[in-house]
Amino acid sequence: MSEQVNSYSAIARRSFLAAPALLGATQARAQPGRPVALATIGMIGDLLRGVGGPGISAETLIGEGVDPHLFRPTRNDIARILRADALFFNGHRLEGRMHEVLARAAAQGKPSLAVAEAIPRSRLRQNEDYPDAADPHIWMDPALWAETLPAIATTLGRLPRLDRDLAAGVGETRARLHRLDAYARDVLAPIPAERRVLVTAHDAFAYFGLRYEFRLESIQGLSTEAEASLARIEAMVRLILDRRLPAIFTESSVPDRAVRALIEGVAARGHQMRLGGTLFSDSMGRSGTYRGTYEGMMDHNITTISRALGGSAPERGMNGRL
Ligand SMILES: [Zn+2]
Repeated sequence: MSEQVNSYSAIARRSFLAAPALLGATQARAQPGRPVALATIGMIGDLLRGVGGPGISAETLIGEGVDPHLFRPTRNDIARILRADALFFNGHRLEGRMHEVLARAAAQGKPSLAVAEAIPRSRLRQNEDYPDAADPHIWMDPALWAETLPAIATTLGRLPRLDRDLAAGVGETRARLHRLDAYARDVLAPIPAERRVLVTAHDAFAYFGLRYEFRLESIQGLSTEAEASLARIEAMVRLILDRRLPAIFTESSVPDRAVRALIEGVAARGHQMRLGGTLFSDSMGRSGTYRGTYEGMMDHNITTISRALGGSAPERGMNGRL
């Protein structure tokens, strides 16, 4: 007994003495030497943070409110891409104007991954703008987004000096995404069938619609590069009047001119429709805030849509943080 107590206290004393030194050693190993994994968009950066944890320094290139379809890297951005230890981009032409620099980075032989292209093509929608690509907005379905995790772990696993259990990172991140998916199913379920139409500025929400049973109508197409036609706006006004839709939505990374024109067009025919809110489509909220995380961005979207169209979401969302 006393021997046990002694050995216990000896271990405790040893641990106590060793702990700060051990912590210091971990930090020293983790800080300057951590490999840099660079993501083009925040939604990918968030997955890297989840899978790589403290073993990597996860960075994001394209900031808040910036449209990746139109993003052109500056000289400084190009330097960051070429300097990063690993590179993660979406692919399927989301980063339409970065083709050259992504190819240059791939030619360096560093670990790199087009995360959306890791999912079998048969699971993805066709990209109407580019016959050789799929619809790139896969993060809009958290369960489908979770299917990119094994490929992310494999690519991070090619980094030397990596101090992290990647399988555990995949498991934790997948559980987080599935919890988000369950919340979406729950709070969107009460929306009546005739209101299950999502009118947005551009066509970013198709995977969301497939997963949660919404018909999608966008004013612009899949990319934000084309302007909306008058005929398209007229057709949408008729659809909204037919369904007596209560709300449509703007997007944080796309100008809202066309959405406002639509609301005015509908009002001129005597139907009062309101702006349901601003959704995050291709960009997350401000870095350092809840909406600046993938979970916060999606919670915001799901909660906003649910509350505008007659679902059961609580005002402050899944975690009470909105
Ligand atoms: Zn988009």
